[in-house]
Amino acid sequence: MIEHQPQRVVVATGNAGKLRELRACLVDLPLTLVPQGELDVPAAVEDGLTFVENALIKARHAARLTGLPALADDSGIEVPALDGAPGIYSARYAGEGASDRDNILKLLAAMQGLQSPQRGARFRCVIVFMRHAEDPVPLICEGAWEGCITDTPGGEGGFGYDPVFRVTGDGRTAAELAAEEKNRLSHRAMALQHLRRRLQPEVNAD
Ligand code: IMP
Repeated sequence: MIEHQPQRVVVATGNAGKLRELRACLVDLPLTLVPQGELDVPAAVEDGLTFVENALIKARHAARLTGLPALADDSGIEVPALDGAPGIYSARYAGEGASDRDNILKLLAAMQGLQSPQRGARFRCVIVFMRHAEDPVPLICEGAWEGCITDTPGGEGGFGYDPVFRVTGDGRTAAELAAEEKNRLSHRAMALQHLRRRLQPEVNAD
């Protein structure tokens, strides 16, 4: 499937923060990650009920429209005290087209009055790699990252809910970590470590 020249892979996302982290975590593989927008692929309709379904939908859509292998990340933050919300709806928690700030404000409002341990939260990430649109055995890799929701946002790095996610065992929010630290610890980093291990033999195959 993958040749010795860097293989172009379409990345099924329009999220610049995700793309940056995917590129950083896969930098040592001979892959050129091309965001789907550069190939005129419109966003897929994410109507799955799980991270896995949505990642498969996005990867298949991008692979089908480009003829390239595709990588998709479906991720989000879940708060057990809110029955797992925002979960798979994290990107549009405050409504279709909501900004990161809108989503954060809605989450902080929903958690008003909750004290530790009710403020516990976890990021989840599912990464799918499809060799082609009909790939019957796509690579599916998962990662999770434990923390809690702060009372107020802090930090300038990262994206999404990072400013209100305090990392377990660390006083800082994800937005206060250096990019390299986040890319070692995060849910996405975990999922990509698994993916790298599984992709390596294919990348190096004759
Ligand atoms: P998706 O594009 O449907 O997978 O939505 C993912 C959403 O989850 C993002 O828009 C963010 O709101 C949130 N999210 C996922 N990963 C992260 C992260 O690493 N930091 C902060 N927010 C994240």
